[in-house]
Amino acid sequence: MADPILEIEHISKRYGEVTAVDNLSFNVPRGSVFGLLGPNGAGKSTTIRMIMRIIMADEGRILLDGVPVDDDRRRLIGYLPEERGLYKKMKVLEHLVFLGTIRGLKPGEAKKRSLAWLENFDLGEWATHKVEDLSKGMQQKVQFIGTILHRPQLLILDEPFSGLDPINSRALKDLLMAMSKEGVTIVLSTHVLPQVDELCTNICLINRARAILNGRLADIRTDYGGNVWRVAGALDENALSTLPAVTAVRPLGAEMLVELEPDAEPRHLLQALAAQGGLESFTRFVPGLENIFIRAVEEDRAHA
Ligand code: ATP
Repeated sequence: MADPILEIEHISKRYGEVTAVDNLSFNVPRGSVFGLLGPNGAGKSTTIRMIMRIIMADEGRILLDGVPVDDDRRRLIGYLPEERGLYKKMKVLEHLVFLGTIRGLKPGEAKKRSLAWLENFDLGEWATHKVEDLSKGMQQKVQFIGTILHRPQLLILDEPFSGLDPINSRALKDLLMAMSKEGVTIVLSTHVLPQVDELCTNICLINRARAILNGRLADIRTDYGGNVWRVAGALDENALSTLPAVTAVRPLGAEMLVELEPDAEPRHLLQALAAQGGLESFTRFVPGLENIFIRAVEEDRAHA
């Protein structure tokens, strides 16, 4: 793969009898928005904690820009942990300056950037309040500011949307897209699949401690889509299923999904439908990430 910013090579972590991560490898391409996905207990947080050296891998290597991550280099990563951890008694601005300085900023610069971000996140008037006075979602925003204050080129965000209302979720998503356009690489671990569908260019799906899908989301969608076509119009389901090469027909809202034999030419179906009259649209079926996630995990469970 061209120019990965992060390389995960054969990492494993065991807790007694439990193998939390099992010989896991994947690369995060530079500039990608990378979804690290999987059901509860799959091993996502354990993987992220190993990248951040909160826990040590039993085996394997983790490289950032081609060099093993050590205690200094991990500070180059902007990390938002799953369990939020701000000091409740500290004042918001004071806290952000503290976070900025431990990541290498001068106090004056940390203050300037913090104030700008607080304004940007509609938290300007809370700068001198104690963290404990803020709502959960507001604290979440403060912690996110702390994560990006030192302008890291790689962000690792564990469930960044949890606790945010739809407006703040949208604002965070827009900000992540803007950062991505500027070249920041973003690794997202989240169960909110519509966000991943919108944001991510690449994914790694973990199940039972191993990667079961890994690559460009567009390629994975094509693989999972199959020879399936979305048709709309005044069409009869029974008539559709008798057309040559059609193996299944099922409704999708007001439209119909028509599955063809794997090697069948879709233009023959299109011609047949056009000849019948009443066809309004004919497009390739692109499966949503939720559909892919559930199918991949169920197939993997069936092989367990
Ligand atoms: P979720 O989506 O629920 O957050 P996850 O994919 O992040 O799940 P992990 O937290 O990485 O999953 O857990 C993977 C497995 O490792 C689980 O079976 C979990 O019980 C186990 N595990 C994680 N941390 C520990 C620990 N400190 N001690 C023992 N077992 C652990």
